[in-house]
Amino acid sequence: MSGNPDSRIEIFPGDITKLDVDAIVNAANAQLRPGGGVCGAIHRAAGKNLREACAKIGGCDTGQSVHTDGYDLKAKYVIHTVGPVWHGGDRNEEALLASCYRTALKIAKQIGARSLAFPAISTGIYGFPLDRATGIAVATVRDFLQQDDGIERVVFSVFGPEAEAAYRSELRR
Ligand code: ADP
Repeated sequence: MSGNPDSRIEIFPGDITKLDVDAIVNAANAQLRPGGGVCGAIHRAAGKNLREACAKIGGCDTGQSVHTDGYDLKAKYVIHTVGPVWHGGDRNEEALLASCYRTALKIAKQIGARSLAFPAISTGIYGFPLDRATGIAVATVRDFLQQDDGIERVVFSVFGPEAEAAYRSELRR
């Protein structure tokens, strides 16, 4: 339906909270609390209204996504997705991670966000092996974009040289 999906995918090495996109995706915890890592950074940059909006929603299942406004961020929306904790691979972690990317993209479409940015979900505190997670991230996004032309731009915000190298190599495949 919509040509080469890679023409709509880019890599941004750096802090996702700085990005000027319609929506940024948060690697949230199931309670939607500020927490650490990228989630803590997003909450700090978005301000206390984000914390309150998340508390009102109350929680989200692993592999699912919900959205709020972006408040003090440049991004109009934050899409909160709950990545799986890595337990060795036999607890459906790969399917749950793919579901994070798919449900976030679906919500982006529903709310009319045409550009969005993802962090490397689950690859920090949640311990998902980076190369496997990167393969799932890139394949799931490519697949979605191939079937849909409502999303114009997907940015992978990569933190650190290792993540950047993993994404660059996966996108060359
Ligand atoms: P999880 O709990 O899902 O593993 P983390 O926040 O611990 O989430 O890590 C997810 C990824 O986000 C890691 O690769 C981490 O290096 C990266 N990260 C941390 N802070 C930021 C940030 N400000 N912008 C983009 N990526 C970030």
